[in-house]
Amino acid sequence: MQILHSVNDFNEAKQVIVGGVNSPVRAFKSVGGIPRFIDRGEGSYLYDVDGNQYLDFVQSWGPLILGHCNQMIIEASINALQNGSSFGAPTELETALAKEIILLYNGVDKMRFVSSGTEATMSAIRLARAYSGRDDIIKFEGCYHGHSDSLLVSAGSGCATFGSPSSPGVPQDFSKHTYVARFNDLDSVRSCFELGNIGCVIIEPIAGNMGLVPAENEFLVGLRALCDEFGAVLIFDEVMSGFRASLNGAQGYYDVVPDLVTFGKVIGGGMPLAGFGGKDEIMKLLSPVGDVYQAGTLSGNPVAVSAGLSAICQIKADVGLYARLQDLASRLMDGFAQEAQKRGIALQTCVRGSMFGFFFNSKEVKNFDDARGSDTQFFASFHQKMLERGIYLACSAFETGFVCSTMTQEEIDRAIVACGESIEEIINE
Ligand SMILES: *Cc1c(COP(=O)(O)O)cnc(C)c1O
Repeated sequence: MQILHSVNDFNEAKQVIVGGVNSPVRAFKSVGGIPRFIDRGEGSYLYDVDGNQYLDFVQSWGPLILGHCNQMIIEASINALQNGSSFGAPTELETALAKEIILLYNGVDKMRFVSSGTEATMSAIRLARAYSGRDDIIKFEGCYHGHSDSLLVSAGSGCATFGSPSSPGVPQDFSKHTYVARFNDLDSVRSCFELGNIGCVIIEPIAGNMGLVPAENEFLVGLRALCDEFGAVLIFDEVMSGFRASLNGAQGYYDVVPDLVTFGKVIGGGMPLAGFGGKDEIMKLLSPVGDVYQAGTLSGNPVAVSAGLSAICQIKADVGLYARLQDLASRLMDGFAQEAQKRGIALQTCVRGSMFGFFFNSKEVKNFDDARGSDTQFFASFHQKMLERGIYLACSAFETGFVCSTMTQEEIDRAIVACGESIEEIINE
C-alpha cells in the first residue's frame, strides 16, 4: 500500500499542529504506523490522500450512522447554510430537534444544545451539583466523558477513594471531588457514597470508551437505587450510545430512567452538535430560568441542527434500521470470533445495535481492569494488517467500532476474510 502522501502530510502537519493532529487518538500512537490523511468519504468508505480505499468502521468515532455523504444530510445542511450560518438567536429548528429527542428518551422533559460532548457532560455535572447542593461526584474507571477537569480523573491508589488527575494541569483540588468506582461493581459505588458527599453519578450505561463494555442490568438497577437512597442525580452519558445502541440508546436495553442524559455524536449528523436533557425539576435550574450558568456562541447552530434533524428523521423513518445494523455488527463479530478461534487466538466480542467491540483476551471483559488485561500488542499488529487490507478500525484496543446503514453483508464478509488473513500473518511472524 502506497502511503507517501500521508507520510508527507503528517510530517508537514507536525510543523504547525501539535503532534500533527487535533485530537490525540488520531495520531496512531498506541498502534504505531502513520495516520492516514483523509481526502474524502463516501457511504461505507474512506479515501486517503494516496487514493487508497478503506471500509470505515470508525465512522468519525460514532456520528455517521448513515455513512459518509448522506444525501439528505448534505441537502439539509446546504439549505440551512444558504439561510445563514449562525445567528446567535433562536430558530425553529432547535425546537424541532428537542421534540424528537424528548419523544424518544424517558426522563428527558427539557433539552439544551451545545457543540461538543465535553460541554454536554461538563454542563450536566454543574447542573447536578447545583441541584443536589453537593460537590462530590462518582465516575467509573474506563468511562470517558470528554476532557473537562472534573472528569479527567482516574482511580486513586485504593479502589474507593477520590481519584487523582489523569492529566497534568488538572488541579488536585478538582479531582478530590471525583470518586472513581469500578464499572459493574455496586459495592465500589456504595463505598464511594459512604466516603464522599456525593451529588451525582455519571456513567456510560453502555460503555464504549474502554472497548465496548455494557453495564449489567442489575448493576444499573442497583445504581439507580443507590442514587435514590443517597439523593444523588444519575446522569447517563449517551453521547456515544444515544441513537447508536438503539433508537432509544441504553433505554432500549435497560428499564432504568436517569435524571439527566447527555447526547452528542449521532444527534449532529456529522456536525458539531451535542446536548443534555432531563427532568424539568432539574433542568429549570439552568439559566435563564434558574441561576446555573451555561452558554455558547454557536450552541444549537442552525447548520448543525439541520444536519442532526435530518439524521434523526431518517433514522426514525427506517423502522428496521437498528435490527439490520445489529445483524451486520453480529455477523462481523461472529466472523472475527471464528477466524480467531480457528487459529487458537482468544477473542472476546460484544455487539449492541450498531456498536461492536472485541478484545484479544481469554477472559470476559466486565470492567476496565479486565479490558486492560487484553493483548494490546496483538491488537496493534492486527490494526496495522487490517489497514493494509483496506479495513479501517479504530486505532486503539479500547475503542468501539461502528457499522453504518450503507454497509452490506458482502462488505462485512470482506472484513472477516481480512481478519483471518491478518491473524494468520501475525502468528506466522
Ligand atoms: C465522545 C464522547 C464524549 C465527548 O464528546 P466530544 O464531542 O468528543 O467532546 C463524551 N462522552 C462519551 C460517552 C463519548 O463517547
